[in-house]
Amino acid sequence: MRRVKGVNSIVNAKNRYLGALLSPLLFALPVCSQAPAGQAKPPEPVVKYGIPVTGGPMDALLLKDYKPASSLVVPRTHVPKAAFPVIDVHSHADMNHINTPADVAAWVRTMDEVGIEMSVVFTEATGAEFDRLANLLLSAYPKRFQVYCGIDVSKIDSPDYPERAAKELQRCYNKGARGVGELTDKGWGLQSSEKNARPRNRRLRLDDPRLDAFWKKCAELKIPANVHIADHPSCWKPLGPQQERTPDFQAFNLYGRDVPSYEYLLASRDRLLARHPGTRFIFCHFSNQANDTASLAKALDRYPNMFLDVSARDYEIGREPRTARAFLERYQGRIMFGTDMGRDKEMYESWWRLLETGDEYIPGRIWWTYYGLELPKPVLKSLYRETALKVLGVQ
Ligand SMILES: [Zn+2]
Repeated sequence: MRRVKGVNSIVNAKNRYLGALLSPLLFALPVCSQAPAGQAKPPEPVVKYGIPVTGGPMDALLLKDYKPASSLVVPRTHVPKAAFPVIDVHSHADMNHINTPADVAAWVRTMDEVGIEMSVVFTEATGAEFDRLANLLLSAYPKRFQVYCGIDVSKIDSPDYPERAAKELQRCYNKGARGVGELTDKGWGLQSSEKNARPRNRRLRLDDPRLDAFWKKCAELKIPANVHIADHPSCWKPLGPQQERTPDFQAFNLYGRDVPSYEYLLASRDRLLARHPGTRFIFCHFSNQANDTASLAKALDRYPNMFLDVSARDYEIGREPRTARAFLERYQGRIMFGTDMGRDKEMYESWWRLLETGDEYIPGRIWWTYYGLELPKPVLKSLYRETALKVLGVQ
């Protein structure tokens, strides 16, 4: 097809080109009729908000390459260290590349610099691998880390499974585990992915009776479980002009895949909380509901054994600073600080800037810019440390 500069070229390329993706309004505009070959008709000008829009180099720019440089001149506050000591309740041994004593020592040096008193480390492991990681982290720095074990999800249909899983948890506890995590069901079943998923009706869900003994053991040992349920709601929306998150996140997309709905997964969370009121559950990433704090508040009001961590949802609270601040203020005692974003010094500093300052239009790791929350000191103290001391049972 011949390409006519102007609205046709933009609309024809709507799935690929920035011009169209940044301009949902264009889809509502009538597409001007194609002139027969040889009789090029000048394109009708597109007018948006009274301004004529013409084609140009940006029409061919790919979304993934779009990185606008801001001209805004406003304060940029560098916060090298948190205002109060912090417990990071969400980090990973593998993501943080923790393999040797030198890795652990380097991490502790960064923690000292940025103000992290203790990090909770998810090993997601059982057996010998858990023992190795627990020993690596706890032998040199017993007060700087809490180590969480995983869950055995092999042979879940065998009659001995519930007892076997609970027994391994007890064994890991004896070796130093002070929690379980990160336990994940994004739709493929607990600790499963698309690659190894069972048929949909046979997947292990959070509220499966086969896990009752495991959750009861958590309660008996007085240790929490950190659970990732569902995922960001945009994962259930198509990858296309209206996809909310940047192409960097498209690998997480679940639209059209063999998984249940976002709502179905959150309902499994609620049934779990009701079924095991004596077990403490920390739902990470604001339980993937920070886009709708009103609904999330209802769940917190209903289930006193439900807790949250803020990890990896900087982009949610940064785009709704007033809503997030009110929510964090109201639910002090239920929400804990966590990162889940590696262990670079700059990463920690970016969290302090977001939570402690009133800086505006902070560049984010998604195309939403952030606005500082300027949390009051008591809220910061609760978020950073006091709630974790209580929920994690730190002595
Ligand atoms: Zn995580």
